[in-house]
Amino acid sequence: MAHDRPRALSGIQPTAGSFHLGNYLGAIRQYVALQETHDAFYMVVDLHAITVPQDPRELRANTRVAAAQLLAAGLDPDRCTLFVQSHVPEHAQLGWVMNCLTGFGEASRMTQFKDKSAKQGADRTTVGLFTYPVLQVADILLYQADQVPVGEDQRQHIELTRDLAERFNSRYGHAFTVPSAHIVKETGKIYDLQDPSIKMSKSASTPKGIISLLDEPKVSAKKIKSAVTDLDTVIRFDEENKPGVSNLLTIYATLTGTSIADLERKYEGKGYGALKTDLAEVMVDWVTPFRSRTQEYLDDPETLDNILAKGAEKARTVAAETLALAYDKVGLLPAKH
Ligand code: ATP
Ligand code: MG
Repeated sequence: MAHDRPRALSGIQPTAGSFHLGNYLGAIRQYVALQETHDAFYMVVDLHAITVPQDPRELRANTRVAAAQLLAAGLDPDRCTLFVQSHVPEHAQLGWVMNCLTGFGEASRMTQFKDKSAKQGADRTTVGLFTYPVLQVADILLYQADQVPVGEDQRQHIELTRDLAERFNSRYGHAFTVPSAHIVKETGKIYDLQDPSIKMSKSASTPKGIISLLDEPKVSAKKIKSAVTDLDTVIRFDEENKPGVSNLLTIYATLTGTSIADLERKYEGKGYGALKTDLAEVMVDWVTPFRSRTQEYLDDPETLDNILAKGAEKARTVAAETLALAYDKVGLLPAKH
C-alpha cells in the first residue's frame, strides 16, 4: 500500500468525562507532534470503552467530549485523520480474524487484563475486556501503522500486535506492516499524585490522585499542592527514592519546556511548597485555555460531528482495503458484486 509518509495510529477511550494529565503527557502530546511528520490516524475508541459497563447517554456525550479535547490539545483535522472507532466497522471485522489467530494462553498473559479483572472479579469481567488487546491489534494493523504513540502501560499490547502481524504474514503471506511502539521515556508513565507507585489512571486513581484536564483550574491547583512527596526536603529527580517529587518535576519540565536539571537548580535550597505553588500556577495556565477551547468545540456539535464524519470516511478507505486483503489471504470467499 503506497503512502508517502510513515503512518501513525493511536486511540483513546471515552471512559470518563475528561482526559487526565497522564493521557496528555504520555500520549496526546505525541499525537500532536506526529501529525507533522506522519500520515496520522487518531480515534476515540468507543468499542473499547464498552468492555466495562457504560451509561449509553454518557458514552455518547463523552465520545464528543473526547474528540473536542483532542482538537483542543492541538489535533488539526487538516493534518490528521480524527474519527470514532465504531464509525469504521472494519475494526470489529478484522478484530474477529485476529481473535482466531491469538492463543488463549497468549491473551491470558496480558497484565492489564489481569489487573483490571482482578479488581472487578471474574463474574463482572466481560469477555470483551479479555479480547480488547486483540481488537487493538486490529485497530493498528488496519492502517498499516509504522508508529503507535502510547504510554508505557501499552507496551505489552504493541508487542502482541507485532507478534500477530508477523504470525499472519508468515502463515498467509504479507498483509500487514509490523508496527513499533512510540513511547517517550520521560513521560511514558505519569504517576498518581497520591500514590506515586501507580500510574495516573481513569479507572484506578482516586479523585485526589488524578488531574482531570476539564476540572475547574483551582481544583487541579489544589491537587498539585496536596501531592504526596516524601519526608526529605531536597528537590532532586530520583525516581527510586523520591517518586512523588520526580513525578512533579517531570510534569513541570514537560509543560514548560524546561530541563529537569534547570528546575533542580532553580529550586536549590527551597522546599517542596515553593515547587508545588509554582507548578500549580503552571497547571492553571495550561488547563484554562484548554478547557475553553474544548468548550468551543462542544458548543458547535455540528462542526464537531462533520469533522468526525470526514475522518471516518478517510479512515474507511484505508481500513476497507486492508480488510479485503486480509479476508482474501485467509481464504474467505469474496461476495459476488
Ligand atoms: P483506563 O484506566 O480506563 O485504562 P487510561 O487512563 O489508561 O484509562 P486510556 O484511554 O486507556 O486511559 O489511555 C489512553 C492513552 O493514554 C494510552 O496511550 C495510554 O498508554 C496513555 N496513558 C494512560 N495513562 C497514562 C499515564 N499515567 N502516563 C502516561 N500515559 C498514560
Ligand atoms: Mg488504559
